[in-house]
Amino acid sequence: MARNPKHDVLFEPIQIGPKTMKNRFYQIPHCNGFGSERPLSQAYFRAMKAEGGYAACCTEYCSISPESDDTHRVSARIWDDGDIRNLSIMCAMLHEHGALAACELWYGGPHAPCMESRCVPRGPTQIPSDFEYLTYAKEMDKDDIHEVQQLYVDAAKRAREAGFDIVYVYGSHSYLPQQFLTPYYNHRTDEYGGSLENRARFWRETIEQVKNAVGSDCAIAVRISTDMFMGEAGTQLERDALPFVELVDDLVDVWDVNVSGISEWGEDATPSRFYAQGRQLPWQAAVKSVSKKPVLGVGRWTNPDAMVDAINSGQLDIIATCRPSISDPFLPQKIDEGRLDDIRECIGCNICISRWEIGGPPLICTQNATAGEEYRRGWHPERFERAANADNDVLVVGAGPAGMECAMILGKRGMRRVHLVEAQDDMGGIMRWIPQLPGLGEWARVVNYRKIQIDKLKNVEFIPDTTLDAQGVKDYGAEIVIVATGGYWATDGLNGATHDTIPGADASLAHILTPEQIMVEGKAVPGERVVIVDNDGYFMGVSLAEKLALEGKQVTMLTPMGHIAPYMHFTLEAPNMHRKLHKLGVEIVTYHMPTKIEAGGVTAAHVYDGDGHERTWEADATVLVTQRRSSEALFRELKDVDGRDALAAEGVAALYRIGDCEAPRLTADAIFSGHRLAREIDSPNPAVPLPYKRERRVPDSDALEDDLRELRVRREREAVPV
Ligand code: SF4
Repeated sequence: MARNPKHDVLFEPIQIGPKTMKNRFYQIPHCNGFGSERPLSQAYFRAMKAEGGYAACCTEYCSISPESDDTHRVSARIWDDGDIRNLSIMCAMLHEHGALAACELWYGGPHAPCMESRCVPRGPTQIPSDFEYLTYAKEMDKDDIHEVQQLYVDAAKRAREAGFDIVYVYGSHSYLPQQFLTPYYNHRTDEYGGSLENRARFWRETIEQVKNAVGSDCAIAVRISTDMFMGEAGTQLERDALPFVELVDDLVDVWDVNVSGISEWGEDATPSRFYAQGRQLPWQAAVKSVSKKPVLGVGRWTNPDAMVDAINSGQLDIIATCRPSISDPFLPQKIDEGRLDDIRECIGCNICISRWEIGGPPLICTQNATAGEEYRRGWHPERFERAANADNDVLVVGAGPAGMECAMILGKRGMRRVHLVEAQDDMGGIMRWIPQLPGLGEWARVVNYRKIQIDKLKNVEFIPDTTLDAQGVKDYGAEIVIVATGGYWATDGLNGATHDTIPGADASLAHILTPEQIMVEGKAVPGERVVIVDNDGYFMGVSLAEKLALEGKQVTMLTPMGHIAPYMHFTLEAPNMHRKLHKLGVEIVTYHMPTKIEAGGVTAAHVYDGDGHERTWEADATVLVTQRRSSEALFRELKDVDGRDALAAEGVAALYRIGDCEAPRLTADAIFSGHRLAREIDSPNPAVPLPYKRERRVPDSDALEDDLRELRVRREREAVPV
């Protein structure tokens, strides 16, 4: 198919300083958990986007010195020759695909905990971080200022040596340069504090020095937060950001414009629950109105029409994407080829971000099971090899996220026939009803994308309204059977805190309900007062609280954990979720575990001091969001009752299970599970994942011998009496 001419502007080249981007697609700096220590994973991950049509791809935040060490999280680092060498692989691979390579130079100031380096970070004022616990900076004197500026210059030279085309002096998300600009962080009374001109001085001088050092070879990018949403204390658009842009515009080749500080950066990396595509546009347009340089900006862009509007209306020059490029690295190519229905749109769940927030294992993506697997598993999001056992029929029982993904990939791998059988009248499983919870409409893209793809595959047949028992499976005639029957919420209060049921919890009673009973079965929630017992820790409990409160119920959330929905701190949804529930008058009770549920209420005890401290919350209804269980009856019957030999005698050569049927986890994990099995369906034992390549240092035997020799010499020396 051909590109729609209305999208042509997205493919026009644009000059940024000494470099030319071949089109308007830019992968904004974002973390992936690889840093400089896993150089091949890093390079393959970014290069996939370049292969998919991105004109430029950036590192994640790239530390310029051990003083800016973000351990326990993973950043890139450009501290020494080893880092130059490692990051040069990424640059070379991007260049192979005709893309520019960008490096986001980062100094965290008080936000850098330096847990590995044990250095003391420097900052404009000695204040503790508002993002990390127990992390302080040393207040910079003039010598410190000059030394840190030199760190930027040295790092920029190393970035140039590695092959980077674009070098950032990164400030936004409240890192050092923007700390100087912002009264919240800058309490100085010298020429680096006070007036806008003084607060801008550190950043202006640093940009100037970096430009002088590498500006003829590299484009200079500046990433600025135009509003921290903190009132007077934070950076403000009119007072700080726009005057700053005007002050340094001549030194900058491209502006990267966003909003928020780091302590509430979900205002920038916006969950779809709270913000639509293009949320930052008014701030980006404001910078565009005062700058003569190209402006790029994020906005969770997945819709090409919206991208075109942003450019044609003069609000942006370059479409910057983070999450949409993770969800679909081939977004530009698919727009270019007019294949819009093949775009795997980001759902804005922020599961990718949660991995960085937790501390830096490789990122994962709900929509794209191959994200982060480009090098270590060799997975390509758009290319699939014909399976060695493609002459088999496969029966997939259950068309939830795992079953859909598995059937889709098996179809793309050319299996003779894939039968996707579902008891309900349509595909989707839990993802048919989860998007009906408040704010989660975009999550329906999980189903929509796969439905469209499955419809296109001639060798995949969807069979709705069909419930198979074990005999039905055996009679079906497929050689390979994959059970993807999902999971369900416990009906008896079984939970991860006590590993036991809750006395009185029985969802067959009118006053006790599970999420499915409310959302799928339409069971009425009696009365006005509802207690939600949440030991899940993610979105289900709070989403039901919001829904029921919006319907006029008086809601209490009761949890044995220290926070409600603690995982939503990692997905950046927590602050706005708390705001919403607070506005709706939802009562929140933490550290309390129910000991008894009755028709009139829930009795609970403090988890650490229960004796004699029980309290009862009056309630007309109790909702159990305690834990999920696998729906594994079919699998167990096939495996345990029939057994492998009996199945083989009936023509079933292989039996597997995937997704929540194996263990109820994140939707991202369910989709990965289905994808992984389909990718490895022709491996020696598909039930067990193939080993993946691990990037780690394994000392060779010579190095080990050297170390042992040194140890022996030292021990002999220490054994000599003085
Ligand atoms: Fe988008 Fe969710 Fe994937 Fe992140 S994990 S890229 S938010 S779909």
